[in-house]
Amino acid sequence: MSNSPTALHELGVAALARQLRERKVSALETAQHFLARAQAHAGLGAFLAIDENVTLAQARAADQALATGNSEATLLGVPMAHKDIFVTKDFVSTAGSKMLAGYRSPFDATVVAKLAAQGVVTLGKLNCDEFAMGSANENSAFGNVANPWDQSRTPGGSSGGSAAAVAAGLVPAATGTDTGGSIRQPASFCGVTGIKPTYGRASRYGMVAFASSLDQAGPLARSAEDCALLLSALCGPDLDRDSTSLDVPAEDFTRSLADSLAGLKVGVPQEFFGEGLAPDVRAAVDAALKEYEKLGATLVPISLPRTELSIPVYYIIAPAEASSNLSRFDGVKFGHRAKDYSDLTDMYKKTRAEGFGDEVKRRIMIGAYVLSHGYYDAYYLQAQKIRRMIADDFAQAFKQCDVIAGPVAPTVAWKLGDMSEDPVANYLADIFTLPASLAGLPGMSIPVGFGAGQMPVGMQLIGNYLQESKLLNVAHQFQQATDWHTKRPQGF
Ligand code: GLN
Repeated sequence: MSNSPTALHELGVAALARQLRERKVSALETAQHFLARAQAHAGLGAFLAIDENVTLAQARAADQALATGNSEATLLGVPMAHKDIFVTKDFVSTAGSKMLAGYRSPFDATVVAKLAAQGVVTLGKLNCDEFAMGSANENSAFGNVANPWDQSRTPGGSSGGSAAAVAAGLVPAATGTDTGGSIRQPASFCGVTGIKPTYGRASRYGMVAFASSLDQAGPLARSAEDCALLLSALCGPDLDRDSTSLDVPAEDFTRSLADSLAGLKVGVPQEFFGEGLAPDVRAAVDAALKEYEKLGATLVPISLPRTELSIPVYYIIAPAEASSNLSRFDGVKFGHRAKDYSDLTDMYKKTRAEGFGDEVKRRIMIGAYVLSHGYYDAYYLQAQKIRRMIADDFAQAFKQCDVIAGPVAPTVAWKLGDMSEDPVANYLADIFTLPASLAGLPGMSIPVGFGAGQMPVGMQLIGNYLQESKLLNVAHQFQQATDWHTKRPQGF
């Protein structure tokens, strides 16, 4: 086979899929190449599980299908790894928690199964914050992930392993989940492209539940084009297994990538450009907005007046749902069980005290509190009402524009340890990603430059419901005109 193996990790999903189809490279050598890279860069802490035998068997199967030349699968032989919040039959699934250390699921999450059905070869499972709670990947029970651009910094979270692995070229792409920003923010911190679709587009079946009314899956990759290919494969109705799955047919999200942006109205929310935004991030985002003007778009000032409220609202609703979802980890059905206990209650207490980390415990307590008799009306119900108003703000905004653009996060990736003792500081950093999550809108992050410490800066694009094609088109056109998404960290 002609391709020099060192070049394989420089290819994106689309290019790799083409080379595989044209049989310029085999699925087996591709898988071997990436497994070797994962091993060589194990120090990043991105992977939680690797099983060569499983991966190579999948790659051989892909090669057989490729040899027939008549498979319709779009991603045959393309390797990927999954955030460890997706359950998988063939790899241990931990959700970043001691509670699930060593846990093996009897089935694959729908997203995993859908990608496998398109021929994806699984390289392993990727580190994440415990039960996806966090913004720095520092809440994982299995250690930090380092940002490949500066290993003393966080890759972001909770899909930190996914973003770091893509940025370092350990995988061409990865899955992530986004409850309040966990695809967009790590994508931004690591200089990769990621998209969270409209709530309900991707099945939540087999995604370890954090906050069910917010959790949504999506891809992280090198480009909008790659994200479009992957999103087309992983979305689609799953009505029997996820009651919030949308009954809209799967779509080919690559179809409108080439559309011109002439006449596009880009809404710029004034609340996203206030005092809290670091000047380096602002400069990169402003420059990207200028680029959009060059591409024929018009910038429209808009207002999302409840942006600030999205923090207290999210940090009531998400913990409330988490406290309910995590009640299943009781030491009885699966996962960790304390060794010594006197009776059933003692077993529950010890199991949960041992199995959960600090942030998870904090959220279970907050959630139980805001749902409790006497506080439900004051906190949970109020939060639900404001959540609706936040969605209404977007509805107003989309009367004036086609997409909304702004920063993903107020700063570039911070130093590991800098905020690990300060949960509120972490929560505040979610301000720009939470509004779209609460409204259930699709959002993405694309690299638009570098800020302090030569760290990547991402721009957030938010679309109206089911407008993923538009978002990807808007992102792709930017990436056709600029080369930020092609920049790679040194040493990888
Ligand atoms: N940082 C947010 C949190 O800690 C979002 C996490 C996520 O999207 N999974 O809850």
